[in-house]
Amino acid sequence: PYDGPRAEEILRKRSEFLSPSLFHLYRKPLNIVNGRMQYLFDEDGRRYLDAFGGIATVCCGHCHPDVIEAIINQTKRLQHSTIFYLNHAIADFAEALASKMPGDLKVVFFTNSGTEANELALMIARLYTGCHDIISLRNSYHGNAAGTMGATAQCNWKFNVIQSGVHHALNPDPYRGVFGADGEKYARDVKEIIDFGTSGQIAGFISESIQGVGGIVELAPGYMSAVYKIIRNVGGLCIADEVQAGFARTGSHFWGFETHGVVPDIVTMAKGIGNGIPIGAVITTPKIAQVLTQRSYFNTFGGNPACTAGGHAVLKVIDKENLQQNALVVGSYLKNRLKALQDKHEIIGDVRGEGLMLGVELVTDRHLKTPAKAEILHVMEEMKGMGVLVGKGGFYGNVFRITPPLCFTKEDSDFFVDVMDIAMSKL
Ligand code: PMP
Repeated sequence: PYDGPRAEEILRKRSEFLSPSLFHLYRKPLNIVNGRMQYLFDEDGRRYLDAFGGIATVCCGHCHPDVIEAIINQTKRLQHSTIFYLNHAIADFAEALASKMPGDLKVVFFTNSGTEANELALMIARLYTGCHDIISLRNSYHGNAAGTMGATAQCNWKFNVIQSGVHHALNPDPYRGVFGADGEKYARDVKEIIDFGTSGQIAGFISESIQGVGGIVELAPGYMSAVYKIIRNVGGLCIADEVQAGFARTGSHFWGFETHGVVPDIVTMAKGIGNGIPIGAVITTPKIAQVLTQRSYFNTFGGNPACTAGGHAVLKVIDKENLQQNALVVGSYLKNRLKALQDKHEIIGDVRGEGLMLGVELVTDRHLKTPAKAEILHVMEEMKGMGVLVGKGGFYGNVFRITPPLCFTKEDSDFFVDVMDIAMSKL
């Protein structure tokens, strides 16, 4: 049993000593003290099914023993910067990651977060092309540092800082977008931004394969391949942000971009790559990677031995436990059950996503698509009361984000949907 500080004490310290911008979920925030695979435990030993943490941190399950062991073993031997000496952990993990990539994508730069990975990717695109302009999608999230906050395109996550050389294209959102599911039409907007908003040449295009923070938005079919053609025609690089959709989550493929049938020039990743430890990466081709030799370039802890040993263990667990296949099978099952729930509850406007990256959008009027902002909070609280944790997102905050660890089972899915059903019936 847990005998550490309780929620009230932590809240008091938080309000006094931590950033006032911190937020938490739930009216009475949870003090989570333990994690085990798809479960989290609070200070009273109460168990919760975690249908959200898969994206924030954990892909193969909380405290997966193989990952813990790899990190401990490495930490006992050495934990150091990556700058000055050789270490096998970083090289082994880079080789293993590269083996998961298509084409010539095989040079890895390690970082400590998704923001850092995307910052580096944007800089590489700018250096390689000699251009400054970047195109990203409205409703996207790419990070919160100088460049990535510019690429991020939701006012909820942006401060009023100078945004340099970023253009935000129409979001190819099949549910709310102006052109419905017509990917080609949205792609024309990218062409128009290049023609009418730039010199005619750009550094690159960055996009998530499925928008995560934006509310599990799948890009309209045909969009990515049409846009990649347009970008390459003007000499720009295509960047795939796989921070959320990567690492087997979409089930049908290891990487989200593969579901769109494209091969990017640069791929960025973080979150699930380390199963909870801070690590990110940028992967590109040997030719593009050359641009970073123009100056000395390093990242003190990017690719450090403990994190790369952990990341490598994550990759092995995904393979050993067939987690991609599990994401496909369990994800399809869960999505079907959620679709059936949509027939029962008028408040569910849309069910979408791939594998174990699913979204349920709540609306008070299916025709007007009025965001059900208050109702979603209510359902979330009710679900928590019944032992289920789920995420929330989207510009209006009215989309359930269902992104469990990839070890989620059919039984978990049944429990999840039954609990959601009861919570919605109480509205
Ligand atoms: N890209 C995407 C798609 C993300 O969802 C996030 C984080 N929500 C980031 C980048 C930034 O990652 P980090 O918070 O690790 O900097």
